[in-house]
Amino acid sequence: MPIAGGLHNALYRGREAGCDIIQIFTKSPQQWKARELTDDDIEQFLAAQVETGIPCVASHDTYLINPAAADPALLARSRAALREEMRRSARLQIPFVVMHLGARGDAPDQEALGRLAESVRDALNAVDGTPTLLLETTAGQGTTLGWRFEHLQAVLEAVAAPSERLGVCIDSCHLFAAGYELRDPEGYYGTMDALDATMGLARIRLIHANDSQRERGSRVDRHMHIGQGYLGQKAFRLLLTDPRLQHVPVVLETPKEGDMDRVNLAVLRELAQTDRETTA
Ligand SMILES: [Zn+2]
Repeated sequence: MPIAGGLHNALYRGREAGCDIIQIFTKSPQQWKARELTDDDIEQFLAAQVETGIPCVASHDTYLINPAAADPALLARSRAALREEMRRSARLQIPFVVMHLGARGDAPDQEALGRLAESVRDALNAVDGTPTLLLETTAGQGTTLGWRFEHLQAVLEAVAAPSERLGVCIDSCHLFAAGYELRDPEGYYGTMDALDATMGLARIRLIHANDSQRERGSRVDRHMHIGQGYLGQKAFRLLLTDPRLQHVPVVLETPKEGDMDRVNLAVLRELAQTDRETTA
């Protein structure tokens, strides 16, 4: 939800759209620097959560950072921004911070993943226990990391933090664009088995529900309204009725067009209530 006019406005926008939970950027995702949060900002944000009954479940890191960067200046700047995001979210009592895994550039995967693991450790050390940092699966555009489950597994193993501190956010559009099948029971369970064998299903703490404008394996990250992209409704029915994921919160990151948040939510809710027998 957009934070124009103050962070608390995201919650009122969420209420208007009929959300149970929301995700925000705690500052503009296209900028490095953010205005320092005042006690007033925090108070208004916490009060708005009580008033709306909508918890803000997650914040998302800025799009500019590259926590796997080979360039020392960019790496230092990225780590500082990530620490800052953890501190801001801690003050706002947001339980999850979602981060992208950055890009390897010309470096080999292993080397970049090593830098990334160090950045994750550094971010976790910036706060006292909360928020939980979530590594997001990515579409694999360009040289970005995180489109293979093995990338996330490598970071989880290197950092060796408990799942209360370090988890995973899966994004349906990204999984599919990265090449993972989700549209039929065989494909869906194959993907989830692969995920379980690498990261472990228990690490999944948040789901980004987005359809995909591009075909499977395109490695292009273009979100679409639920059921209107290449994934289609069936994939979301499988995901939302998976008994192993019932405790995991789901947020939309679909295009902000007219009343589409309401429409997408209604579609998701209907699919989530489908009798599991009818999905096979
Ligand atoms: Zn996402």
